[in-house]
Amino acid sequence: MIRLHVQGDLAPGLAVAPTLDQSRYLTQVMRLKAGDDLLAFNGRHGEWRVSVAEVLKKGVVLRSEEQVREQNHGPDLELVVAVVKKARVETIVEKATELGAARVRLVLTHRTNADRLRLDRLDAIAEEAAEQTGRLDVPLVDDPVKLETLLDGWDASRRLMFCDETGGAPAVSALTAAGGDKWAILIGPEGGFSPEEGARLRALTFTTAVSLGPRILRADTAAIAALTLWQAAIGDWER
Ligand code: SAH
Repeated sequence: MIRLHVQGDLAPGLAVAPTLDQSRYLTQVMRLKAGDDLLAFNGRHGEWRVSVAEVLKKGVVLRSEEQVREQNHGPDLELVVAVVKKARVETIVEKATELGAARVRLVLTHRTNADRLRLDRLDAIAEEAAEQTGRLDVPLVDDPVKLETLLDGWDASRRLMFCDETGGAPAVSALTAAGGDKWAILIGPEGGFSPEEGARLRALTFTTAVSLGPRILRADTAAIAALTLWQAAIGDWER
């Protein structure tokens, strides 16, 4: 069944207007016709069976029929990742969505070689991945900010899993020991964190420095590995 992320409200009988691109996808790619069913979610009202009410030149009109799943949210897990090459950032956003991150925060670090990113493209990737993976919300992707700025304003009740290839603790036991249910994972740029950044991160009260094994991973691989580990150790793979 086709799953579509929509902006508008979902309630019995309510008309839903997908975007023009989504309308084209429904009629031209998927060949849906009036009366056909699909699933829709908006991050607020759960998942709904919706039907194609009308196919107009200016787009498709959908009608909400019945709720099939209550709204739910995954764990409160954010991914904080240094800006790397565009293609790798796109992979990271897609995989983070599949692996259940609630939000992706892009950061600029001392050794970031900022690639030009298109935030609208990253949002579209997150949306498509959420549709495909069956989640009922789409992670936010934030505009890049300086790592220092992010750390200055950090909510100390959110733990930070600092992925540190220069000597973090074994990840599973470190996460289990730290506990807590509000987390973020931090992944550095291809050149790694600078010594000053590493020192600051290790000194913060809310960080848990972890190792992802004896091999140096690319940022995208490290992000996927860290999300997997977190989910398996203390996330919703255990619930
Ligand atoms: N400093 C390294 C490369 C950094 S890899 C070098 O140039 O040799 C990019 C990021 O992935 C790192 O900043 C870290 O956050 C994460 N990472 C990669 N391999 C890791 C490992 N084995 N353990 C923990 N984190 C790792």
